[in-house]
Amino acid sequence: MNTTPHAFALFSGGLDSILAARLIMEQGLVVRCLHFVTPFFGKPRSIPYWEKVYGLEIEAVDVGEDFVRMLRERPAHGFGKVMNPCVDCKILMMRKAREIMKERGASFIISGEVLGQRPMSQRRDTLNVIRRDAEVRDVLLRPLSAQHLDPTEAERSGLVDRSKLLGFFGRGRKDQMALAERMGLTEIPTPAGGCRLAEKENARRYWPVLTLLDEPTAADFELSNIGRQYWAGRHWLSMGRNEADNAALERLVRPGDAILRVRDFPSPFALARQITPWDTETLRDAASLVASYSPKGVRAAESSGGTVAVRVQINGESTFIDVIPRRTPALPWGEPEFTEVRKAIKSENQPTFNE
Ligand code: SF4
Repeated sequence: MNTTPHAFALFSGGLDSILAARLIMEQGLVVRCLHFVTPFFGKPRSIPYWEKVYGLEIEAVDVGEDFVRMLRERPAHGFGKVMNPCVDCKILMMRKAREIMKERGASFIISGEVLGQRPMSQRRDTLNVIRRDAEVRDVLLRPLSAQHLDPTEAERSGLVDRSKLLGFFGRGRKDQMALAERMGLTEIPTPAGGCRLAEKENARRYWPVLTLLDEPTAADFELSNIGRQYWAGRHWLSMGRNEADNAALERLVRPGDAILRVRDFPSPFALARQITPWDTETLRDAASLVASYSPKGVRAAESSGGTVAVRVQINGESTFIDVIPRRTPALPWGEPEFTEVRKAIKSENQPTFNE
């Protein structure tokens, strides 16, 4: 672990990133993999498994705050089909990898991109934009498609034997599967997936956070990943669906948040984040919704005058509100439809791309 690596590889956990790193390692070079983590992607808990199964050295790099800053300022190359800023995302990761490479004295960086594999972010012109904007022109080596690309400094200097690099092109997986077999990889990761920004359901969670908070942080997006998400104007309520959600929400409470729980009965854990002050009526309305998810609370309310008590705790101080459990209280708690999110993205007049 203490040897200075020759190269740092961008490592998503997908097959291409495994093959790219291994291909360079086969030349006797030391490669360290970087696994980028944000609220939207990254599985740092899988690192020990990947290291064992694929024989790699991998470190997690949290770029959550940088990524969220890019979203706040809006991606220069726009969003793809959902809320995925793929080109800017790659630029950000490559910049970070370059920084780490420089700091740690390595010579180049590796990515598993295959030319022509994806409609937009892996087209030749886009790959060039990424290389240029990330300032990695001279140091980025893409071993799987290198034969289609100009030689990099690592190849020209002889550190890497270019003749052993590959010329993969296009969307097919046949070449990759054959290479995996040749390398003796028995566990093949399932293709793609894993980025929440490319999923419509998640865009509905993220868009309000991005647009209604003054300065959303990575922690805000972490919160929006959990449980049921409700918005009524700028009032934001997150509610656990099960014990794991409840525990995750509890860990994310910060000063000023209101915690809502039904008193005396099993209840979801609900967290109201104060972007704008919550007046009593809004809190009551949210409490009524929370109570509707406590079956025992609902039954108790039905058999005793119609109401149940909800504890509202802010900075350790508790108050209690008696509410009628209602799944559809007065305010229209919910998330925007995906079509509204897309409309809003379009109305910002940013560039978009087809991926
Ligand atoms: S799908 Fe997600 S992780 Fe992949 S490049 Fe696009 S934004 Fe980045």
